[in-house]
Amino acid sequence: MIRYDLKQSEMPRKWYNIIPDLPEEVPMPLDENGEAMELLKRAVPSKILEHEFSHERYIDIPEPVYEKYMMVGRPTPIIRAKKFEEYLGNNIKIYMKMESYTYTGSHKINSALAHVYYAKQDNADFVSSETGAGQWGAAVSLAAALNNIKAHIFMVRTSYYAKPYRKFQMEMYGADVHPSPSDFTAYGKELLKKDPENPGSLGIAISDAMKYALENNGKYIAGSVINADILYKTIAGQEALLQMKMTGDDPDYIIGVVGGGSNYAALAFPFLGEELRENNIRRKYIAAGSLEVPKMTRGVYKYDFADTAGVLPMLKMYTIGADFIPPPVFAGGLRYHAVAPLLSLLMHRGIVSSRDYSQEESFKYAQLFSKIEGYIPAPETSHALPILKEIADEAERTHEKKTVLVSFSGHGLLDLANYADALGLK
Ligand SMILES: *Cc1c(COP(=O)(O)O)cnc(C)c1O
Repeated sequence: MIRYDLKQSEMPRKWYNIIPDLPEEVPMPLDENGEAMELLKRAVPSKILEHEFSHERYIDIPEPVYEKYMMVGRPTPIIRAKKFEEYLGNNIKIYMKMESYTYTGSHKINSALAHVYYAKQDNADFVSSETGAGQWGAAVSLAAALNNIKAHIFMVRTSYYAKPYRKFQMEMYGADVHPSPSDFTAYGKELLKKDPENPGSLGIAISDAMKYALENNGKYIAGSVINADILYKTIAGQEALLQMKMTGDDPDYIIGVVGGGSNYAALAFPFLGEELRENNIRRKYIAAGSLEVPKMTRGVYKYDFADTAGVLPMLKMYTIGADFIPPPVFAGGLRYHAVAPLLSLLMHRGIVSSRDYSQEESFKYAQLFSKIEGYIPAPETSHALPILKEIADEAERTHEKKTVLVSFSGHGLLDLANYADALGLK
């Protein structure tokens, strides 16, 4: 078989929370003057903060969220990359969890639907969030549309002008998209007064979005990195557990790419949880990042700011510094300077290992994969492909056939201009 589908009625009804199964407590956020937590408490939906520190292993997916999962394309299939297996020498089996099959084309809608639902529960007038390249903003905009609530998206000014397609996507969903710094908020106006050419940054956009929510009875939506966001995205891994049973294979390797870490964690944690509970870790967990933002392989495990502006509390994580200015890599979703605390803890314990690959190498694989499998991966997703080659070579050396499960986090159909630039397509 090539494709493994769950029936809609088989879609799991619970998210999985890894916290109670971890070998040690997750380090708490550090908030030196107490202001950041206070702000978050006011800006973020209350249920999300409760989930952030929950020790319940399974949390029921609210019925309205469950229904909307189905509307946007869940459950997603697992697809066997048979031709790519052949290309790599037939020593490995590759199963891809196709998060690219959702309406927004990536895994980000999985948590956006939960965040927006909980904002609505708190009677917010609107939701606000930041976005860099635009995938997260698109997911929040779609989630807001399906929940009949307004979305205000603060998009890093340079991307706003350089990458109009995701902005159009957000506007098609009815969101208001503001370049950040924005003259829509007092904070943004202040920055623009000082420097009308301010290109913006994710940190500034976070401040813009959070301040706008606080001042106008909205709720601020924080994506990736935080425990609750990973929790909501585990729907993908929960499905994959059932789908891998259908295949009759058990993955020896679970791989995926890391921006803030939620994509990889969402797929890996439900599998890893089984092993942590049995105290027997037999699978190999490998996460990949971008060599241009090498927090995975060159980061330090310490408390650092979650955002450049220092509005959010400090988190203990692998980081190359909140003030690290990444080169303008196209895999916009991998630019974050640190790794989610939950995933960092597992890296620190040696349970999850990591690789960083250059854009050049990853994009060559993207083109190869497109030619062979006929599916164009997102630039971010392409950073997981070199691991497949590594595993295949290892399998050939040891004469052991290996099974790999990979999070196929998104498709690249809105990123073709980036591929064209980098690969010299004419
Ligand atoms: C955002 C994004 C990522 C990175 O996700 P994190 O959850 O932040 O690690 C990976 N792939 C795609 C396609 C993305 O849009």
